[in-house]
Amino acid sequence: MEITRREALKLGATIGVLGAVSGVLLKAAAESYETKAEAVSITSVPSICGMCMAQCAIWIDVVNGKPVRIRPNTNAPTSAIGICARGVSGTFSTWLNPDAIKKPMARKALVDWAQGKISWEEARRQLSQSRGKYDDMVEIDWNTAIEIVAKKLKELADNNERHAFTFLFGA
Ligand code: SF4
Repeated sequence: MEITRREALKLGATIGVLGAVSGVLLKAAAESYETKAEAVSITSVPSICGMCMAQCAIWIDVVNGKPVRIRPNTNAPTSAIGICARGVSGTFSTWLNPDAIKKPMARKALVDWAQGKISWEEARRQLSQSRGKYDDMVEIDWNTAIEIVAKKLKELADNNERHAFTFLFGA
């Protein structure tokens, strides 16, 4: 098939326009990709697994503020060879549970005692009545939680009763 000079010029112009259009489209696609890439924030936060007493060291991979993966922190002796399935899935289940406790909680008698509203004897009386029940639990802020623990620890230390202290943790 023969192409005239006029047809060749038209074809060249068409290819040029198509090239320009595809160039613009490619540039727009690249810019859109760059925008999406910039919007993703990925960090790894060092923490510990609270699912049992071993408290293995973990990394929590966080994408855009949401935890997406738990992996062992192999720099720590407790997790040098890895972490167990409970550590990976259990901690995630806790985060995803809508009923998960997100703030410190304490029995109201302890809060009243820490704030000086009732004596320790009265707090103990109320605490013994609420044993096995949880309807007196109230949400508190971290300062109040620390205040309760610190006040009781100081009292034990001042009375030389350190042996009466037990620390329990884990899920
Ligand atoms: S990873 Fe497993 S062994 Fe380690 S603290 Fe969590 S539950 Fe315990």
